[in-house]
Amino acid sequence: MRRAAVVRLRQLQPELKSKDRKGPLSRAEGGPFRVAAPGAAPGVAFSGKIRYRGLMDTDLMPIAGGVDPVPVPRLLSGRADGLCDLIGLSRPAIADALVDAGLADAKQARMRSKQIWSWIYNRGVTDFALMSDLSKPLREALAAHFVIGRPEVLEAHVSTDGTRKWLLRSGGEDYEMVFIPDADRGTLCVSSQVGCTLNCRFCFTGTMKLVRNLTAGEIIGQVMLARDSLGEWPSQPEGRLLTNIVMMGMGEPLYNFDNVRDALKIVMDGDGLALSKRRITLSTSGVVPMMERAGEEIGVNLAVSLHAVTKEIRDEIVPLNKRYGIHELLAACAAYPGANNARRITFEYVMLKDKNDRDEDAYELVNLLQRYRLPAKVNLIPFNPWPGSIYETSDPARVERFSQIVYEGGFSAPVRRPRGRDIMAACGQLKSSSEKISRAELDRRAAEKEAAWV
Ligand code: SAH
Ligand code: SF4
Repeated sequence: MRRAAVVRLRQLQPELKSKDRKGPLSRAEGGPFRVAAPGAAPGVAFSGKIRYRGLMDTDLMPIAGGVDPVPVPRLLSGRADGLCDLIGLSRPAIADALVDAGLADAKQARMRSKQIWSWIYNRGVTDFALMSDLSKPLREALAAHFVIGRPEVLEAHVSTDGTRKWLLRSGGEDYEMVFIPDADRGTLCVSSQVGCTLNCRFCFTGTMKLVRNLTAGEIIGQVMLARDSLGEWPSQPEGRLLTNIVMMGMGEPLYNFDNVRDALKIVMDGDGLALSKRRITLSTSGVVPMMERAGEEIGVNLAVSLHAVTKEIRDEIVPLNKRYGIHELLAACAAYPGANNARRITFEYVMLKDKNDRDEDAYELVNLLQRYRLPAKVNLIPFNPWPGSIYETSDPARVERFSQIVYEGGFSAPVRRPRGRDIMAACGQLKSSSEKISRAELDRRAAEKEAAWV
């Protein structure tokens, strides 16, 4: 059971920073995550909802399958103006909100929620006054209780190759999204967390200190904003620029499972944005216990950040490997619901000079994919450098050779062309603050994160 506690934001934040990231509070041992209630008597703990007075509601990150490594606050809802944002709510939740606000009885609410849903997700309307099939008094009442929000755009950048990056803010925190136009498609790279609970050593986002889960509204809000910017309302299946979504922005989506699932369900809803699950890819660094649920409850394409084929190297560059090793991960891939030769799993492999790019690594990669009979394709990603990174990009000839070996082993292995490097929008370059951090501080942060979950 959840017990609500009312605290001030400023009181809570130092608590979360100093105590909740590590030590005894950092890891659930099967049971619900518990943390000392700010302001509570020593020894008193509670789990669940915390209400920020006048600012926002948060919830401690749920223990999805008991695997969350680091407890992080997540913003639930709540705005300074007291209005409720409808973005991110399911249709039944919108209906409930209408009933709670006294604007409709249950039957009417179901019908109204469908109309409102269509205005929001089919036509991109953010102003209730434009909802012309609702009565004027209802529109006014809706505006008195609700908003249809968007994240605030702090910065927008366009790369020389056409890639666009936005720095967004909501709930007081910043995160990024990227749009990558191609001849035959347009891919939106969406963030799931502010920062990342994990610490892959080649990834800029992994160096971020501050972490919170984005809400379903903030995740879908990125898609809505992209549609706004691209002028793509009303939503229609043909001729759109935004055709694909990849959960490859900031954060580990499987550590924010519920919100990612809820947001993607809205993206896939046939009466709204109506993007097919075949056009959506979720990338995970290998949160094994959540992979089956991801397949069953979301059902989108799976990408796995493998990046190494030996325990020694993967432990170093993807430290989550110390918890869920390569074999466990590949077995979970083999069991991923919905994967078959028509819908293959993508294995991402960042090419790091003299680290994971030898011929032997390529042969072992083929061996592993064959051994687990994986319907697989491999994406070779040239390492995208960032200030303070300790790795180098493999030589193009080395990448080519690696690709050839994997290809000859029976798996397609295209080399991904880096996009948006000039605006720090390429894979692993996302980070919402450009603060300069020393090597020692980067190492300290990595060790701190790791201590919390390994
Ligand atoms: N957290 C998820 C999804 C986001 S990262 C995951 O790790 O899968 C998206 C992809 O970019 C991942 O494959 C990630 O390993 C890769 N990546 C991270 N940093 C990179 C860098 N500096 N250069 C190239 N690829 C990088
Ligand atoms: Fe997190 Fe993915 Fe970056 Fe690893 S690669 S630190 S899981 S965002």
